[in-house]
Amino acid sequence: MNVHDSEKMLGILEQQGYAETRVPHIADLIIFNTCSVRQKAEQKFYSELGRAKAFKKKRPGMQIAVAGCIAQQEGENIIRKAPYVSFVFGPQNIHVLGNFISGRIAATALEENPEVEQTDLPAKRAHGVQAWVTTMYGCNNFCSFCIVPYTRGRERSRPAENILAEVRELAERGYKEITLLGQNVNSYRSDTNFPGLLRMLDRVGGLERIRFVTSHPRDLSDELIVAMGDLPKVCEHIHLPLQSGSNKILRLMNRGYSFEEYVQKVLKLRDRIPDISITTDIIAGFPGETEDDHILTIDALERIEFDGIFAFKFSPRPGTKASVMENQLPDGLTSTRLSQILEIQDKITERKNRSLEGTFQEILLDGQGETDEKKLTGRTRTNKIVTIPWSDIAKGTLIFVEIIKGKQHSLEGRLSVGD
Ligand code: SAM
Ligand code: SF4
Repeated sequence: MNVHDSEKMLGILEQQGYAETRVPHIADLIIFNTCSVRQKAEQKFYSELGRAKAFKKKRPGMQIAVAGCIAQQEGENIIRKAPYVSFVFGPQNIHVLGNFISGRIAATALEENPEVEQTDLPAKRAHGVQAWVTTMYGCNNFCSFCIVPYTRGRERSRPAENILAEVRELAERGYKEITLLGQNVNSYRSDTNFPGLLRMLDRVGGLERIRFVTSHPRDLSDELIVAMGDLPKVCEHIHLPLQSGSNKILRLMNRGYSFEEYVQKVLKLRDRIPDISITTDIIAGFPGETEDDHILTIDALERIEFDGIFAFKFSPRPGTKASVMENQLPDGLTSTRLSQILEIQDKITERKNRSLEGTFQEILLDGQGETDEKKLTGRTRTNKIVTIPWSDIAKGTLIFVEIIKGKQHSLEGRLSVGD
């Protein structure tokens, strides 16, 4: 979501005559688009801000702006702490960036913007094959650990017509894959609901694949599972954050589902979409998490066998309920639990990837290998990265490959006979 917000900022700046540079010390404007979901991201930002101060000293005309969730949370404090910052704007105020550049507004823009869903901003997309598309803004869930509802405001869905128009235009420009974005994308509701939106987008000619993140388990309806199974362009992958395998912890997190309910949804997904890959988020060391609760999470990983997980140490965020709960866990214990979670999942991921050896998979080629330019990379419909030996095939092409090796983080493939 932040990457796409940055693309929108680039789109606005381009209209104002700016061009992107990868060399920060020669820039006229540096914008930090920040994340505050965990403390680590915040610390990183403050150390980068210090570097920008040095750039500005050598180039006094340079303007420095801070955007995103830290901007929303800290507001004017940022300018107080770092007077060399000239503009602070939150995720609901990206549209005012143009006014700032032309000197038409004050130094902060942090207001709630109820019209944000109507504001179609020009995005300058970095990728030529896959595009992010906003479906909704904000979140109403108030999970007790999470800062998002405080920084991104209440849930608002974009009109389906606007989303459809954007996706049609992307398909006309040659984009093959879109990823629909929302903090809780399956609670999308405008004149249609999320399955209805998927059905509209599935008919867009030229588009090959539709993905979406992130789905909240509570809002994963039977109707959505049926639509995923029916619609040919909707990929066989869902990111469905579980967070914990313990019902006691899920209740403290205010997640709105039990572990058993979550498992039921996984069974329905696997029943309707047999090859679906399911990934998840896990938080280790939530306040009050006992060894038994932690073991329930490990058991959940072994029972569900996710294709991949993102696991995080609980990070107390200012203003959230969990940050002031009793029984905050010491960092050492949380780190140990996180390592155990990752170790178990690594084995499961590798085992699942190895089980794909010898199968044929459709991949959408999206570029050259990051570490090896003699390789091409693509993703399966189930969102697994595949590398193949270099071949003269254009980015954006769909090809079938045979998987010859399943590794920890990716698969190795080769062009199948006949390609
Ligand atoms: N909206 C999505 C959902 O409901 O799952 C996820 C949004 S959140 C920005 C991404 C992930 O960050 C969450 O699923 C959670 O695992 C993690 N996260 C959020 N707040 C956290 C915190 N305070 N400490 C550790 N992890 C956190
Ligand atoms: Fe945060 Fe996601 Fe919960 Fe919303 S649903 S409060 S974004 S974790």
